[in-house]
Amino acid sequence: MARLLCVLTSLVGETRESAKFRTRGQIREKVTKGDEVLLRGLDGTLVGYASVTAVLPIGLIIALALDGLAGADVPLSAEVWLPEGDHDPGPPTPAHTMNQPGTSLASVVATCVVCGAKQPARPFAEPLQCPRCLAYLVVGYEQTQELGPNQLMPRPTLLIPLPALPGQIEWPQMCACCGGPAEKTAEVSTTGSIHQAMTGGALDFMFREIPAVRTLSPSWYETYRSVGTSGSGGPAPGWAFPLCGVDNPEHQDPVTVWTQDGALGFRSYRYHREFCRGNRLSDGR
Ligand SMILES: [Zn+2]
Ligand SMILES: [Zn+2]
Repeated sequence: MARLLCVLTSLVGETRESAKFRTRGQIREKVTKGDEVLLRGLDGTLVGYASVTAVLPIGLIIALALDGLAGADVPLSAEVWLPEGDHDPGPPTPAHTMNQPGTSLASVVATCVVCGAKQPARPFAEPLQCPRCLAYLVVGYEQTQELGPNQLMPRPTLLIPLPALPGQIEWPQMCACCGGPAEKTAEVSTTGSIHQAMTGGALDFMFREIPAVRTLSPSWYETYRSVGTSGSGGPAPGWAFPLCGVDNPEHQDPVTVWTQDGALGFRSYRYHREFCRGNRLSDGR
């Protein structure tokens, strides 16, 4: 079975024969010069094969040189896989559901790939959260897929509503950014509003949508509403999440509390899913 080595994040440089990419840091000692690797877009599209010409720690960044590739042909955030032998079929293609027609030409009804919940959606908009199991979905015109596990959002916009959290949080023991081994911890930061325009009404709407079954008293949400967000340094005192030893630009601020939105936000979808599982937030899925 093919093994995921890393996710490419940006192009460092290219020659006619090879391109050099930054990776998200996961690669470490797992790939060496001469390895034949398989590149795949995060949506599952096959990009092609390449061989590794060098693994370069450039300062704190790990870069990978791949030959036989024009840099322009490789989408940023492509995955690099190492197949085991010639007959390895490569990584599995992502599961999908078929959309149903919506109430207008510009909308569809999307079915959650994870739990089957249906909701109206606009194709090719931002990833859409399932109100039942909290999974994030990528909605196309005809199909819906779950967001790729290796997806890293530019900001911590993958959410979990604070009222849904248990009193004692379990932080999955992996890097909250790249999924690598946990080597240190960092404190959760607090930020204001995910959308400046988001109103109190929108916040209430968001909470009605989530079947929060916790009966903590007072809940995080109630605490927010009564205390507000300005005093006492925010709602996340002492919350700390794991990080690996890689210190590159992709590892900045992967977890935050959006105080005005009452939500915990993650950049890494893998970490978001593991967090949901570890804290039993998604019906055990
Ligand atoms: Zn769902
Ligand atoms: Zn990491």
